[in-house]
Amino acid sequence: MSLAKSYCVSLLGLAGTLIEIEAEISSNLPSFVLVGLPDASLSEAKDRVRAAAHNSGLPLPGRRVTVNLSPASVPKRGSAFDLAIAIGIMAANGRVRPESVSEWIHIGELGLDGAVRGVPGVLPSVLAAKRAGWLKAIVPIANLAEACLVDGVEVLGAETLAQVAHFHGAENPASDLQAFNGSEVSAEPVSQVNLDLADVIGQDEAVEALTLAAAGGHHMLMVGPPGAGKTMLAERLPSILPDLSVEAAIETTALHSISGSKVHEVSGALLTRPPYEAPHHTASMVSLVGGGLGMPKPGLISLANHGVLFLDEAPEFQRPVLEAMRQPLESGEVLINRSAGIARFPARFQLLMAANPCPCGNFAGKGRACVCAPAARLAYLGKLSGPLLDRIDIRLRLQPANSAQIALARLGATQLGRTSAEIRARVEAARKSSSRRLAGTPWTINAQVPGAYLRRQLKAKAGVTAALDNAVDRGLISMRGYDRCLRLAWTSADLDGRSQLVAEDIAKAVLLRGGDGVTSW
Ligand SMILES: [Zn+2]
Repeated sequence: MSLAKSYCVSLLGLAGTLIEIEAEISSNLPSFVLVGLPDASLSEAKDRVRAAAHNSGLPLPGRRVTVNLSPASVPKRGSAFDLAIAIGIMAANGRVRPESVSEWIHIGELGLDGAVRGVPGVLPSVLAAKRAGWLKAIVPIANLAEACLVDGVEVLGAETLAQVAHFHGAENPASDLQAFNGSEVSAEPVSQVNLDLADVIGQDEAVEALTLAAAGGHHMLMVGPPGAGKTMLAERLPSILPDLSVEAAIETTALHSISGSKVHEVSGALLTRPPYEAPHHTASMVSLVGGGLGMPKPGLISLANHGVLFLDEAPEFQRPVLEAMRQPLESGEVLINRSAGIARFPARFQLLMAANPCPCGNFAGKGRACVCAPAARLAYLGKLSGPLLDRIDIRLRLQPANSAQIALARLGATQLGRTSAEIRARVEAARKSSSRRLAGTPWTINAQVPGAYLRRQLKAKAGVTAALDNAVDRGLISMRGYDRCLRLAWTSADLDGRSQLVAEDIAKAVLLRGGDGVTSW
């Protein structure tokens, strides 16, 4: 046999294409040719494959080896094809059984010593293979746990090329491939496990606002001086969000798999809790939104998919970076253009922003401690105005907890009924009512519902919105502001277990919504 086939997967974004690898051995002078649009990193596969095969005791034949990756039009990047190329050549060479090789998807990078190394994106690759009808995969042992998250696919983990060759019938001494036994996975990813809202002293209004944000999926802005607890509150938002659905968990885990993120590497498990990402304000566009050279990688806004993205000191972020958030906030995904095509990364995150009230941070109360010029103060928060702010339903002013609250908290008095577990239960119940009310629409949480639908289909009883209608008539709030109030009011009703709006819901919404522009508060 001088011609054999093996199979791998090429990823662009979360989408994968099955790649057929044909290996042919002819009697010409020894050489190694790789065709079918490989990028530079893949071209280096030749050297890795040759050395790995040699060091596994199964050297490549001293003849001409041609490897063709098809379809040729699909770009192929990175080192994940090494294993499939090596085993394909061995099949063509008659060292292993070709019919066994071509039954399996092979994913993995080869070390020069013949070790099979982990690669990013194994979970989405195995998902893509399954969609294409392939139900058997051999992956690096380092990626075995994530590959096994895909239901209905038989997965084996390889430590060395020699093992894989042995599995396919080579008569070399090697241990067996490993099936997954669950021991490598820690039950819960490490992030945010121990943060609880019970730790927050005072700030009852902020906790209430955070509860509404969680229940309705509302984006939120907190403005307050340093020490008011903005970061502490933000870090605890995931603790009151419901678990991810299986679908959401797989999508988010796949994004973490492609990026090779730490959370994913540490656990290898399915991310069942909402992720939390808090980029520094110096973060680059690529690290935030995604992209990069070679195979595009998801940015932090995609790693926060179905979770929380917290921008601390939001006005300090570069304007283009803030602007780049708009499209994903609208569509729930990031598109990265490449000559080869468009990579799509989901980015359905809940945005939480924090800002100091002014550049020096001390403009609170009567503002006596502030040293900023009035114009500088306005310009500072003004950086957040415009289309981004339009998406923020909750705008909250925070003050530091006062000494009486701190003293009470030391006595354990203010934290009753306020643990994250208790609030999460309320949030879950509220989300059930909103999805029941929105059944048959494309939306499940209140933050997604457009203004027109709120005003027409979900019309409140006469009189309930009187104060709000009045304010619009007198030009005190804009129509957008009006819609934001209605959205928040419904979340308030959901949290209280009511199926109709009451005037209190509206009042609470008006309070939490803040003004239309940053200058009004
Ligand atoms: Zn100031």
